[in-house]
Formats: sequence, structure tokens, C-alpha cells
Amino acid sequence: MKKLQMVDLRSQYLHIKPEIDRGIQEVIDSCAFINGPAVNGFQKDLEQYLGVKHVIPCANGTDALQVAMMALNLVPGDEVITTSFTFIATAEVIALLKLTPVLVDVDPGTFNIDPKAIERAITPKTKAIVPVHLFGQTAPMEEIMEIAAKHNLFVIEDNCQAIGSDYYFNDGTAKKAGTIGHIGCTSFFPSKNLGCYGDGGAIFTNDDDLAKQMRVVVNHGMTVRYYHDYIGVNSRLDSIQAAILKVKLAHLDEYAASRRAAADFYDEAFKNHPHLKTPVRYGKSNHVFHQYTLVTEGIDRKALIEFLGTKEIPAMIYYPVPLHMQKAYLDPRYKPGDFPVTEHLSETVFSLPMHTELDHEQLTYITQSVLEFLNQ
Ligand SMILES: *Cc1c(COP(=O)(O)O)cnc(C)c1O
Repeated sequence: MKKLQMVDLRSQYLHIKPEIDRGIQEVIDSCAFINGPAVNGFQKDLEQYLGVKHVIPCANGTDALQVAMMALNLVPGDEVITTSFTFIATAEVIALLKLTPVLVDVDPGTFNIDPKAIERAITPKTKAIVPVHLFGQTAPMEEIMEIAAKHNLFVIEDNCQAIGSDYYFNDGTAKKAGTIGHIGCTSFFPSKNLGCYGDGGAIFTNDDDLAKQMRVVVNHGMTVRYYHDYIGVNSRLDSIQAAILKVKLAHLDEYAASRRAAADFYDEAFKNHPHLKTPVRYGKSNHVFHQYTLVTEGIDRKALIEFLGTKEIPAMIYYPVPLHMQKAYLDPRYKPGDFPVTEHLSETVFSLPMHTELDHEQLTYITQSVLEFLNQ
């Protein structure tokens, strides 16, 4: 059996090696390392794939979120609502810009931000909402956009984990995750669903003015060469990464199908198990399974993960500490117990290997080993 990994980037690479190697070599031959044709080519392909007017490539997903917020002309003290159950980057950029992160709890089934909790958290200082499409499933964007419209708020989608996911509206139409809010952000970190071989990110919008502003922000706030009208940042996607992403984007739907097939296998093996809750697919989004995350019930999660370790099966906890309990983010506004769903999830979830290369033998071995622990 092939060695188990949370993500198997090497096997994936070997399937597309000639295309990838050719793409990298072309960039080296051209020496157009910064903002070369490879970046523009990938940008156009991604705009077309997502059905969005503007893609702005940048250096990573965290920068994408920061640039999005810098483009909104928010001022210190403005409140930005986001989820208490996410990777730190989401709240980090809010805090860095001296905006006030306002955390809200999540839905226990989908792990995504709860629209009712968003409404309760709105104050006269609220300016934006940042839903995170956690683990590959789009948050309930229709409800979130209605709330935003009612209160005149910006919506920035943190789509670092759900690129390629479709969201279905009540009228039967669909849009890609990250293209529904005013701005969408993604990461091309190697382990993400569309990952490059280093760091990368992108911002999406259908708004011409926001796109123009964000292109200025990522380029040192420069409007005319060496004339800086804004304080910006330097955030670029490099050409070699763009060449890799162009190749991988053509495979993204096929990759999502592989991930979904692995998830189906896990679902079937663990269905109706008294000690495991399989991830809920709530029907409004096709899950692209960045992670396959189970909720344990009435078992010792640590002992399970240790047992899997003895069988050389990696398992991870995303995320062990809710944002309001992170040392750097402790805030007198919040205390343990304020976000009971998030806190419960951080104590009970674990994720199994999930990637595009899992085969039947590996999936059988993983599921049998988990069941062996539970039935012992
Ligand atoms: C990965 C990730 C980020 C940050 O992306 P980087 O490219 O590592 O900066 C932000 N938010 C979420 C939800 C992520 O999963």
C-alpha cells in the first residue's frame, strides 16, 4: 500500500508531470518571472472558470483577505463579523488593520457561520461580514447576502478552502463559491484544493471599482508609475506558480470528483455509527471536501488519533482552539462558553486523509482501522 499522507502532492504531480515541467520551463526560458504572460494567462482562465469579471492574483490567501479589507475604506473601530471556527488568517487581517473582529458561532452540522448569529451581532459599527466556506462547502450565501443588503454591509468570502464549489440559489441558479459576495479571496497554498508549489493567492470581484482599487493596493498603492496615492502592499503571484496553476486549474473539477468519491467511501463506512457523525452536506452547495471532518461522540479523540498513528494513518484536528480562546486574540468581550458550538467542535472533531490520490486499498485500510478502534 502507498504510504498514507493527509495530502499526497507527489502522486498528483506524477500524473501531470510533463505539463507542469513544460509550464515551468517556459517561464524560465522567457525570464518573465514577475507579472509575465503566465500570470495573465492563468488570471484569464480563472475568470472564465469562475464566471467572474475580475481575478486579481496576489501572494497568498492571507494577503487576499487583507487587500480586500484595505479596499473598502474601513476605519479603525469598524466591526467585521466572522466565524469563531476558522483558520486564524481570517481574524488576523481584521485585527492587523485595527478593525474589530466580531465573532459568531457556527452551525453544528456544516461547521459554517450561522446567519441567525450574524444578524444578532450587527451593530451600528458593523461594516462587513466575512463568511468562511469551511472544509470545502459554501456557507449559506443567499441568507448572508440578504442580511448584508438589509444592513448595507460588504461581504468578503474567505474561499481559501472551497474553490470550485457551486452554490445553488432558491431560484435554481448557481454561482461559484467566492463570486457571490462583493469580494472573494482564495489561497493557492500547496495543500489547498487548487494548490501551487509554493505560496499564491487571488481575489475575485464583479465590481469594476473595487477591482481597480485592489489592483492599486497590491501594487504599493501606485496609480501612475512612482506616484503613490494610497498606502498599499507588495503582493504578487509569481509567474512560475501561475504556470503550475494554469495546468492544475484544468484538472480542478476532476480533483473535486476524486475528493467527493473518497468522502462517499468514508460516509458509507461510518454511516449511522453511534460514535461518529459524518460531515453534513446541506444541499445548497456541492462540497469539494478540502477536509473530511468527523465529529466524535462519547469517545476519547486523543486515543483514537494515537491508535491511528500506530497504524501510520495521519489524522489532524482542524481546529483545536476557537478564535476567542487563542492567546493573541483574548478579549474581555469574550469568554469560554460564548460560542458553545465552536467550542464543542474544537474538542470533538478530527480529519482523515483527504486528497485526489486516495485509492480503494488505502480507504479500506483507513476506515477499517477507525472501526477497529471504535469496536474494541
Ligand atoms: C489557508 C487559509 C487561509 C490563508 O491562506 P494562505 O495562503 O496560507 O495565506 C485563510 N483562510 C482560510 C480559511 C484558509 O484555509
